[in-house]
Amino acid sequence: MSGLYARESRSVSTMAHLRFFPQAVVGGSGVYLTGDDGRRLLDFAASWGAASLGHAHPAVREAVDRALSDQAGASYLSSANEPSVLLAEKLLTLVPERARGRVWFGHSGSDANETVARAVVAATGRPRILAFEGAYHGGTVGSMAVSGHPAQQGTRAAGLTLVPYPDAYASGSAEAAKDAAIAHIERLFASDVPPDEVAAVFIEPIQSDGGMLVPPQGFFQQVETLCRRHGILVVSDEVKVGLGRTGRFNAFEHSGIEPDIVVYGKGLGGGLPISAVVGPEAIMNHAAAFSFQTVHGNPVCSAAALAVLATIEREGLVDKAARAGSTLLAGLKDLQRQHPFIGDVRGRGLAIGVELVSDRAGRQPAAREAALVAYRAFQLGLVLYYVGVRSNVLELTPPLIVGESEAREGIAILDRAIGDVAAGRVDPALLQGFAGW
Ligand SMILES: *Cc1c(COP(=O)(O)O)cnc(C)c1O
Repeated sequence: MSGLYARESRSVSTMAHLRFFPQAVVGGSGVYLTGDDGRRLLDFAASWGAASLGHAHPAVREAVDRALSDQAGASYLSSANEPSVLLAEKLLTLVPERARGRVWFGHSGSDANETVARAVVAATGRPRILAFEGAYHGGTVGSMAVSGHPAQQGTRAAGLTLVPYPDAYASGSAEAAKDAAIAHIERLFASDVPPDEVAAVFIEPIQSDGGMLVPPQGFFQQVETLCRRHGILVVSDEVKVGLGRTGRFNAFEHSGIEPDIVVYGKGLGGGLPISAVVGPEAIMNHAAAFSFQTVHGNPVCSAAALAVLATIEREGLVDKAARAGSTLLAGLKDLQRQHPFIGDVRGRGLAIGVELVSDRAGRQPAAREAALVAYRAFQLGLVLYYVGVRSNVLELTPPLIVGESEAREGIAILDRAIGDVAAGRVDPALLQGFAGW
């Protein structure tokens, strides 16, 4: 354990910790972090996707510097500021017509989803919300209330109904998983959950913390059709996988749907805290002073977000993410042929999951091995974490700027890490004190 990591444990609370190995960093540039032991770490987590442009991107640094050098206050609560207005204007061009109303700004995916959950109920007068089992929409009381991730401690909203997210791998067939999930919703609508009481359905276009589940073709179109029939709003939580990560600007575009409300976060600020909700005026302007925190709409964070969006366009990062993602997926599928541990490799662009199983036929989750692979990869110089309702899916969400050679470098490290774990060369005692989730 490094000096910085040990010092932290004597001063910093563990309540926000989600630790997989004793990582302590003192700097970073591009796709690499610098450990306090001087090691260069290839970052395939990007702080859960927040470092969308990698570390210390010049566009973000310049934008932040400019915004701070003549600072237009620190909030949009009681005055307009230009960066937040420019950002709202830009975001309105990036969503489907039906969502093109108004933009709300927050600090995090959590406050954004909490605001949506409250606003759709207040604005429509409908008390119910649908979300998916395994869904992660945030860590505040109101966002946990509409989530379905089993690792969370919070209670669910009284009006929440969780429905199964189709898991093609676990069920053995994408089509069967899709049909079962749709039939489940239809059954609910015909019985316990009157659809005219449902304000909104929250979707993750790829269910990331639930295990990087890629929805079966046509699934969300069928969900959307049900929603349109009953006047239910479709909310796409793009917090982790939106903004180019999947090889399309919005991740819902892969599903051919048009959500009413789009939620952005994580990578929007390129490392600074900012989130955004984009939706129809009837919802977004249903009341004033409804959901705000003091430095929401901060001009510095807004300027960073504008720089992120401009850089994604200027550097063609959506296409770059698609290309690097193909390289990664192909490399991981090669690894799958060599390592029986790898049950499934799935994803879109740079949102990739590698599901580890103890035997392929039975698809038994290999949670401890996933934790050991992540730990071993860190020792070998690659940062990635694991997700999933069974804690057995390695998650790859590198910065959008990752290049082909860095993708290959990461695959090579993962190859070694998985080989070492399979051969029993990694001591399980290392995991003591690293619960992950
Ligand atoms: C991380 C995440 C959130 C919560 O975002 P925070 O910035 O951690 O509050 C919400 N939804 C999804 C899909 C996420 O991945």
